[in-house]
Amino acid sequence: MARSGCTVDGMTQNFDVVVVGGGAAGLSAALMLGRSRRSVLVLDAGEPRNAPAAGVHGLLGHEGTPPGELLRKGRAEVEQYGAVVRPARARAAVRDDAGFALTLDDATTVHARRIVLATGVVDQLPAVDGLAGRWGRDVLHCPYCHGWEVRDKKIVVLATGPMAVHQGLLFHQLSDDVTIVLHQQPPLGDEQAEEMAAIGVRVVEGEVARVVVEDDAVTGLALASGEVVAAEAIVVGSRPVARPDLLADLGLQTHDLPNDMGTAVAADAMGVTAVPGVWAAGNLTDPYAQVGASAARTPEPPGSPDIWVSSRCATASASPSRTGATRSRRARGNGSRSTSRRSAAAARSGTSRTGSGSRRSCASTGCDLLRERGITLPRCGRLPA
Ligand SMILES: Cc1cc2nc3c(=O)[nH]c(=O)nc-3n(C[C@H](O)[C@H](O)[C@H](O)COP(=O)(O)OP(=O)(O)OC[C@H]3O[C@@H](n4cnc5c(N)ncnc54)[C@H](O)[C@@H]3O)c2cc1C
Repeated sequence: MARSGCTVDGMTQNFDVVVVGGGAAGLSAALMLGRSRRSVLVLDAGEPRNAPAAGVHGLLGHEGTPPGELLRKGRAEVEQYGAVVRPARARAAVRDDAGFALTLDDATTVHARRIVLATGVVDQLPAVDGLAGRWGRDVLHCPYCHGWEVRDKKIVVLATGPMAVHQGLLFHQLSDDVTIVLHQQPPLGDEQAEEMAAIGVRVVEGEVARVVVEDDAVTGLALASGEVVAAEAIVVGSRPVARPDLLADLGLQTHDLPNDMGTAVAADAMGVTAVPGVWAAGNLTDPYAQVGASAARTPEPPGSPDIWVSSRCATASASPSRTGATRSRRARGNGSRSTSRRSAAAARSGTSRTGSGSRRSCASTGCDLLRERGITLPRCGRLPA
């Protein structure tokens, strides 16, 4: 059971952490937080990025598992540690005395001391008739996700930028029948044209008008000239854009990736963002991370000191003399509820909040250890500078 969080009208409304987004990244964060006895709510709008795909590939131990099944399993794993997973969209977030108040799409409000944003990205596709409807099926972007499934097929790369040549090279490893259609891109330079010719990748100039589909399968790309380039699979580089949900409310900004390759929210390797109390994980911070990397790129407790030690810091700050007693009780395996209540009360009173209040030396062993290991605690306003 989580040690903090309180019950209002039979439904827990106050949490240590609200994770917004229940994809691979959000559930993985919730798993570690739940196992660390944080009270956790996962809010999930149910639109994971890879939903159109038949299976998740390249994920050891889960090869080919349908995306929905993987997440169902993840939710069950998270719930066994007391985390609550709620199918709901977070519409708004504001700071309040205890941390944050989030308004959901059913107009209810939940409170969180900390937020993990794992809302993912939206894939922007070129405005080509019929393309979006086949996305994740026979319109593909990633050789590692679906390349094997289209091996030896007629693969046509619909160029959307300079990476089209790279896609040609990668998919050439999977099929001898690869064509790049330049669409609105300029002709290849001499060196690239030679490279494509040398490996037998055909390059076609001309703007694409629409995707040709027969019997629920792609059969070609129709060009504005009327020519149809035969295809059994179309490769296109999407432009993944950070989902805007809550970003403005929380004061977070996105940055552009190089070569117009999308946008992301900046966070360090621990998920720490520029906004105190807010962590970010998964594709939101790295749009090109696959499922395994997205799940790994989460604010794990040992690497996110504020989430991990914040209640201990709160206890230390509120009443330093009690900290030793708290530690020895826990060392005896007797973590008491009153300690949790004091921690939660300290947190609610703002003693663990960031950047405010007096700076006092924190007596927490956990904090000292982290400091010794060179890990700074940028979000803990109670620690010495
Ligand atoms: C077509 C396709 C196929 C792919 N296939 C593979 C593959 O085979 N193998 C692989 O490793 N990777 C694959 N990927 C990449 C994979 O989709 C991502 O790595 C992964 O989804 C990232 O996980 P995430 O948790 O960061 O984001 P997501 O999985 O996108 O999850 C974000 C979640 O947050 C929710 N959300 C957003 N806003 C809110 C809000 N305001 N309130 C509540 N919830 C919200 C969304 O509804 C969604 O459920 C594929 C990608 C695509 C596009």
